[in-house]
Parts: sequence; structure tokens; C-alpha cells
Amino acid sequence: MRMIFIGPPGAGKGTQAARLVERYAIPHISTGDMFRAAVKAGTPMGKAAAECMNKGELVGDDIVIGMVRERIAQDDAKDGFLLDGFPRTVPQAEALKSALVTDGLSLDAVLLLEVPDQLIVDRITGRRSDPETGAIYHLTFSPPPAEVADRLVHRKDDTEEACRSRLDAYHSQTAPLVPFYEAEGLLKRVDGVGKPDDVTGRIVTVLG
Ligand code: AMP
Repeated sequence: MRMIFIGPPGAGKGTQAARLVERYAIPHISTGDMFRAAVKAGTPMGKAAAECMNKGELVGDDIVIGMVRERIAQDDAKDGFLLDGFPRTVPQAEALKSALVTDGLSLDAVLLLEVPDQLIVDRITGRRSDPETGAIYHLTFSPPPAEVADRLVHRKDDTEEACRSRLDAYHSQTAPLVPFYEAEGLLKRVDGVGKPDDVTGRIVTVLG
């Protein structure tokens, strides 16, 4: 199964992706996680990406495309993958398509997780993640257990200001992927509002 996940920041892609990769036994490839790891490791790519990320802007297509091409060529992605946060622009989608076509492969599904903008800001500013387990919590909607509270991390780009820039980037640069994948007959829309278990149920239903 080769799937991609699109949707605004804070739509719940990370939470749902973690569940889907277990169910379908495929690797979870999150470009945001890859960039955060590169920033933490202080690599040249991390340094180049950090400035854009902190402002809530997209990293340049060339950097992202090269990184994803290398990642999907690895052994564990041979039989499938779930791309989370990529593609985010039409040129990225075109590059992914041509990389797959070169290998005689194609995508099976594109999931669009839909959540209205007004809910996004509340979701993002209260989001915290556990660096040890990767679990994602929300201070109000999904409070963390007391024993992990001290080690939780608030992403630098989860402030209200960066969140608004990320939403602008989503609407101007990523939303055009919707007609792109609709035209390819791959787009599956899923309502991302509600409890995570309910959203997972909807995704599994549309995937059939
Ligand atoms: P995410 O964790 O998916 O919200 O990504 C965090 C940040 O990493 C984004 O706001 C961008 O700055 C950068 N990023 C992640 N994926 C991409 C991508 N496909 N294209 C450009 N920038 C990206």
C-alpha cells in the first residue's frame, strides 16, 4: 500500500499515521519529523531548513524532493509507505509521480484529512509531544499522564503566529494538490473532526 496523507497542519495526520502504519505494516515517512531530526543533529540540511520551519514557511522543493526520493528508495519502503507531510506543493507531487513511474510504481490512495481552520489554531497551540515515545497529546483535548508531563516538548512552530503562517502556506501551496489528485482519481476525503478513534474508523472505511 502506497499512501499519502494531506491536510492542514494540526489535522491529526501524525496521530492517524501512527495507527495506519501499524495496521498496514508500512513505514511512516514524515518529512516534518525528518527535518526536525536534521535540525537536532545540526546537519547542513537541518540548518538550511530551520529558518523556514520556525517561521512556518515551507522548505524549498529541491531539498524536500531529494530527501524523499532517497528515503522511499530504502529497503523498508519497497512494498509500501505512508507519506505524511509530503507532497505539499504541486511540483513535489509531480516529482513523486515521476519517481514512482520510473520504477513502474504508483500511489494507491491519497487521504485528505479535513478540519476547519478555526479548530486548527486551538489544536496546534495546545499540542505537546513526548520525545521518548513519539506520543502526541493536547493539553485540553487529550491531556498527558502526569508521569510524562515534565518531558513533553512544544514544537517551536506550534505558536499562534507560526500556525497562521502554516495555514496560509497550506491554503496557497498545498490545497492545489486536491484537484491534482482528484483528477488522478486517487483522492479520498475524510472528516478529521471528532475523537481520534472515530477518525481512524472513517479512514479504514474509505480505504476499504
Ligand atoms: P510538519 O511536521 O509536517 O507540520 O512539518 C513541519 C515543517 O517542516 C513545515 O512547516 C515545513 O517548514 C517543513 N516541511 C515538512 N514537510 C515539508 C514539505 N513536504 N515541503 C516543504 N516543507 C516541509
